[in-house]
Amino acid sequence: MVRAQTRRHRRTLWSALLTGVGGASLAVAAGAWWQHTGESPPNILIVTMCSWRLERIGAYGGTSGSTPRFDALAAKSIVFDHAWSNGVYTSVAHAALLTGRYPEGNGLIDATSTIDRSVPTLPEILKLYGYHTLAWTTANAPLSFRAQDGFERGFDRFDQPETSAQGRVARFAPPESPWLAVAHVKDTHVPYDVDGQSANDPNPVIQEWLTRTRRRLPGDPDPDAWVAEQFATDPEAKTALLRRYDADLHSGDARLGELLDTLGDQLEDTVVIVVGDHGDALGEHGRIGHGALEPEVAHVAMIIHLPGESPRRVTDDVSLVDLMPTLLDLANATPPAVRDGRDLMPLLRGQPVAAVPAVVQFLRRAPQHTALIGWDGFAQGDRWEACDREGHLCRAWAFSAGAWSSAAPDAALVAEGRASLKNTALSVEGRAATEAERNAIRTAGYWQAVPEP
Ligand SMILES: [Zn+2]
Repeated sequence: MVRAQTRRHRRTLWSALLTGVGGASLAVAAGAWWQHTGESPPNILIVTMCSWRLERIGAYGGTSGSTPRFDALAAKSIVFDHAWSNGVYTSVAHAALLTGRYPEGNGLIDATSTIDRSVPTLPEILKLYGYHTLAWTTANAPLSFRAQDGFERGFDRFDQPETSAQGRVARFAPPESPWLAVAHVKDTHVPYDVDGQSANDPNPVIQEWLTRTRRRLPGDPDPDAWVAEQFATDPEAKTALLRRYDADLHSGDARLGELLDTLGDQLEDTVVIVVGDHGDALGEHGRIGHGALEPEVAHVAMIIHLPGESPRRVTDDVSLVDLMPTLLDLANATPPAVRDGRDLMPLLRGQPVAAVPAVVQFLRRAPQHTALIGWDGFAQGDRWEACDREGHLCRAWAFSAGAWSSAAPDAALVAEGRASLKNTALSVEGRAATEAERNAIRTAGYWQAVPEP
């Protein structure tokens, strides 16, 4: 009886997520599934927030008031203070999240690669256990969360923004079994021009930055480095940039709020993960935005709302690859034999786990496609070190007094990080980027190396 009611509830909730209305009409007792995990796997909602810089978020100490919906959910969730992305681009981060493998292990290392066919994804596995699966994204930009990069695998529905909510619901039969929904919210993104409403800026320095960014051609000076230089003598310009950023942040938060409103009372019947795919630099080290291997980009917000569990903060280092084995455990599903992520269930239950550095990768194919080149970042607490693949050069950083700055090398961190790269990297074949793609990516400010601290 309970199961039948739960199924009806899920069916209604699924429709509500697709249409955005009416999710609260058939409530079941809060935590019902949690007491009966063995017989009724949970609904799972993953919301990934593009470019969410940790220090601007209220739940992480931000004071601009831009994230009321996230903060309210965080207050009743498990909040991770040291969560890390495994890449510095949207697509690389999402591939790691959905496969539980580091970039070198899942194949999606950059703008021209895809998730390797041999690597199972979270939705593919959950489908084997009867889940219905849906993903959608609010943007279709280069390097984003795109079906053509392999992200559509395992999803019953994968909708890019050209498909309306009404279109989705018209073509989708609501299921009678548990569901996985993955939503990528991309309201926050350089040049912080939310909904195209702020193509210009009253601050002359920021206006010049916008102009330089728009007209940038290959070989032009980096507009981000230029504007970051201005911040040293013009604090008003920095304030103006942060105002733009916070407006974008607030827009993303409102979209998260719409999703949570759709869940309504059913929130207590759903595992909700809200996580940054990557952060953003806001003038530090001459950088704005993401795409460079630096701790401001790799350090992300992550909360898990687990019905029946008390809210608390976790200071252990975790990363996006840990979500897949954790969610499979919650769903009583068997994880893949080869995985890089760890099951965080002990942490979620308040039990200690062994400390492991997070791995963040910035890789490209070597010219002959026979090897991966680039940098591995290793993060643990307030320590960060990035090393090139040959190990000839490492750059160490530490977080103190509210900022990341140059620090003494940490050989133990690097050794532990490298040891955790225990699985075999795939032989990434793929194709070379076309010249047009290379220019588009460079113009967007990506393909940076590792900046000086
Ligand atoms: Zn992103």
